[in-house]
Amino acid sequence: MTKWGKRTEAIHGGIRRSQYGELSEAMFMTQAFVYPSAEAAEARFEQSGPDEFIYARYGNPTNRMFEDRIAAYEGTEDAFACTSGMAAVNGALMALTKAGDHVVSSRALFGSCLYVLEEVLARFGVEITLVDGTDNAAWEAAIRPDTTLVFLESISNPTLEVIDLQHVINVAHKNEALVVVDNAMITPVYSYAARMGADLVVYSTTKHVDGQGRMLGGAICGSRELIRGPIETYMKHTGGAINPFAAWTHLKSLETMDLRVRAQSDSALKVANALQDHEKLSKVMYPTHAKHPQYAVAIEQAASGGTVLAIEVKGGKEACFRFLNALEIFIISNNFADAKSIVTHPATTTHQRLPQEQKDALGISDSMVRVSIGLEEPEDLIADLTNALAAV
Ligand SMILES: *Cc1c(COP(=O)(O)O)cnc(C)c1O
Repeated sequence: MTKWGKRTEAIHGGIRRSQYGELSEAMFMTQAFVYPSAEAAEARFEQSGPDEFIYARYGNPTNRMFEDRIAAYEGTEDAFACTSGMAAVNGALMALTKAGDHVVSSRALFGSCLYVLEEVLARFGVEITLVDGTDNAAWEAAIRPDTTLVFLESISNPTLEVIDLQHVINVAHKNEALVVVDNAMITPVYSYAARMGADLVVYSTTKHVDGQGRMLGGAICGSRELIRGPIETYMKHTGGAINPFAAWTHLKSLETMDLRVRAQSDSALKVANALQDHEKLSKVMYPTHAKHPQYAVAIEQAASGGTVLAIEVKGGKEACFRFLNALEIFIISNNFADAKSIVTHPATTTHQRLPQEQKDALGISDSMVRVSIGLEEPEDLIADLTNALAAV
């Protein structure tokens, strides 16, 4: 558990120095571990201590440093580090459900999360109910005494819907259902899920933890009982553990994440303010911006709305493409949360394959552009956006 403030934990949390006394965390690129004797091997397999390892799929000192550090930053007892955000989401859901269970989830989900729920879990006999996550009454109506698990994205990607998390957690816990929160968009810096009582908080660490476009990774944060119980058992037998190089990169990234995300989020609010009444835009969505439909919930839950905005350019796909192609600093890509500012047209890229009625239900129109704010000068970003809008 946490000993220091979050920023101190992000730098010193979980450190395990070897006999060489290295300053920076060591990267243990090893698959397996050796034992001084057959008796020692037997003992290790019988019961391994916190700093004793067997095989990298089960655990590794570099991975463990990252797990302890992100858990300390999040404020949970423990964490399991995964190969990607989707390995984390899949692991959390598969480890905690069985045939006959009922799961309630918000509908506005990252496409792969929806696949795990609707295709994978459903195939194994788990009943799924999808609700409008912003409608508190819909959660109450959907969560039943036989509901075993509730899943949601605290802020949805890419539509930036904000869920009243405390309400959902209260309703779920009254029915003894576990709550798993995909927290990618709100970032670990502004996370409130663990504090509000979520049972598991899941991250795509590919996003703000790495934040520099290099490594895929994921983390499941929660109580020791869940993490070293069903989560670790499922993950170690199914091969979802992060590799030590990615864990090492993430350790270094955690040292600067707090500063990066705060700077990016401050810029994101500046951009939202600068664009709010722009004549070429029909919508500017940023969670803690006064015009966001769930502004009151967003501002009560978090100190910031994160690093991403969603805007709608009047004139549909054609206008969006002209806007994207006229940008000089913003890069056209499908990632977000990077030091480099990025624009995405979800309707033709990340959500291209969704049937139109599903796009409509999720609010992903041809006019929508997801805008991820990086670490550049905010004034340069605003000028780039307004110049490109002038070209529309
Ligand atoms: C990116 C993302 C994921 C998947 O993460 P990967 O690291 O790409 O596997 C899951 N959920 C949300 C909300 C995301 O944004």
